[in-house]
Amino acid sequence: MVAVVQGLSVDLVFFELLIIMMRWSQQLIPTLRETPQEAEIPSHRWMLRAGLIRRLSGGLYTYLPLGFRAMKKVEAIVREEMNRANAREILMPALQPRDIWESSGRWTTLERVMFAMQDRQGRNMVLGPTHEEVITGLAANELDSYRDLPMNFYQIQTKFRDEIRPRFGLMRAKEFIMKDAYSFDADEEGIARSYQSMYEAYGRIFARCGLETTIVEADSGAMGGSASHEFMVVSEVGEDGIVVCGGCGYAANLERAEAPALPMSAEQDDSERHLEPVATPDLRSVVEVAEFLGLPTDQLIKTLIYLKDGDPVAVLVPGDRDINEVKLGHVLGAIGVKLADDAVVEQVTGAPTGFAGPVGLSLPLFADCRLEGRRGMVAGANLADTHILHVDLARDAGDILYADLCLAKDGDACPRCGEDLSERRGIEVGHVFQLGTKYSEALGATFLDPHGDRKPMVMGCYGIGVSRTLQSVIEQHHDENGICWPLTIAPYEVEVLVLNVSHEESVRTAECLSKDLEAKGLDVLYDDRNERPGVKFKDADVVGCPIRVAVGERSLAEGKIEVKLRRDQDVEKIPVADAVEVIVGRVAMLQREFLPGE
Ligand code: ATP
Ligand code: MG
Repeated sequence: MVAVVQGLSVDLVFFELLIIMMRWSQQLIPTLRETPQEAEIPSHRWMLRAGLIRRLSGGLYTYLPLGFRAMKKVEAIVREEMNRANAREILMPALQPRDIWESSGRWTTLERVMFAMQDRQGRNMVLGPTHEEVITGLAANELDSYRDLPMNFYQIQTKFRDEIRPRFGLMRAKEFIMKDAYSFDADEEGIARSYQSMYEAYGRIFARCGLETTIVEADSGAMGGSASHEFMVVSEVGEDGIVVCGGCGYAANLERAEAPALPMSAEQDDSERHLEPVATPDLRSVVEVAEFLGLPTDQLIKTLIYLKDGDPVAVLVPGDRDINEVKLGHVLGAIGVKLADDAVVEQVTGAPTGFAGPVGLSLPLFADCRLEGRRGMVAGANLADTHILHVDLARDAGDILYADLCLAKDGDACPRCGEDLSERRGIEVGHVFQLGTKYSEALGATFLDPHGDRKPMVMGCYGIGVSRTLQSVIEQHHDENGICWPLTIAPYEVEVLVLNVSHEESVRTAECLSKDLEAKGLDVLYDDRNERPGVKFKDADVVGCPIRVAVGERSLAEGKIEVKLRRDQDVEKIPVADAVEVIVGRVAMLQREFLPGE
């Protein structure tokens, strides 16, 4: 039995049973005319206005049907690429005993972000913010020989983090969906291969999601380990600072970016002048003191007192630079470094905050490499309301350890090629790490090598913020009227819209067309609502399906329907009889745009 409506045909015997027509009227797609107060950035605004998500409370969201469908499409791409890269999908418990975090030594560093509780037996439990501990325990039990390696496991799962500032919708949530993968190798060459394969898979995943990313060198932070890269979406609303070089392509997270010493820009005072105190009443900041003395800020030494695992140390940088606390932590060999409070500063320097300096200070001294060899500098005198002129660090200060301690900034020379670096903001959507043996040693994940020696497995870990990726796509693909979905993750590829629900021929044609397109494997949203055409067109723009098909009395009188791509202005009139073929062709064309290069 075949139904024919103006050239459209549907094999009712078979497909009628399988095809579920997605009627707008029967779904929850609560589009909003106004932007809710909570939305501060475009992607968050459009997620709310297009009815993709709704807030439960800070950092907690429900995915409504459209948001859920788009998320499942992102997940499907992630899954395909992980499987293609030979990672095996598993699912680990989100709820975990706290003691595994104590065994790895990370309870102290991550306690602040963990949701912790006790079960009815009084056992301490946590909700997993990440899964290195669980997976390493699994590997310790289940992998034993070099023959079991390499092995790579992944999961797509809800993670929990008690973020200090949950914000921007799904961008920084307390509960979010992550794809996390963990690789186990026998040696350094093995992990390098596993890392490369994940790195390439990530490139394909983001390209297929229609997301343009910049890959930056990253600090491996609390994870330990060596190589690490982040996949960043460059955007003003990003919470990470990054630097990129237009010359050679070097790119790094600010936390990590190298800021090598340049030739000195301040005048070197070569005369052997003696130290000279100068009164600087109430002038505490570098800018105030430099202005008062009529000197450039980089002729001042900024001296800050930090606590290294509780012990005070002095850190010196040129007055025009900021300290990079991550690099400082590495140089000090401390997990966390903290600025000392005013009381400690006063106690160790003998002066209120703002007047510390290296001369006569009996603390370990660490200085940025651009200060090495500097003379004629100005520093705090460790005396209230006083600075000292003509400081020669080599002559006047005790032993100093010089290292790269500055935060890189716009206009710095690229550490690779010397061109100017530019500073940008980035949204971190993915992160790959080489972990080394830190976790396998702590948690006993060892294997027998071919000579019968027991060795720790060499690990890597690889995360993608699936929900953050979804929202980042919208941040990159929207206009003033709403979302412009890349075809690959659009909740529906095509929206069929009937202009007037009381015009029978329009309704029949729209329904038949929707079914025929579904039968061709497309995802079709059928706007069957009894609403004015203006409302429907506006909503179609907000929701942002890549292809919109309008069925109305006037065009049908000429035997045509109207096809429009969301991203274009032009409307094409297509004969009804050709509609399926043309639309399928458009979908294929849009699909090709997101095929990553091999
Ligand atoms: P961030 O620096 O943004 O806090 P992170 O470096 O702590 O993130 P990872 O541990 O590397 O995050 O987690 C892997 C991925 O999970 C991140 O690249 C990011 O895309 C995502 N992610 C992390 N925290 C959140 C969050 N609070 N909300 C949504 N996605 C997140
Ligand atoms: Mg990260």
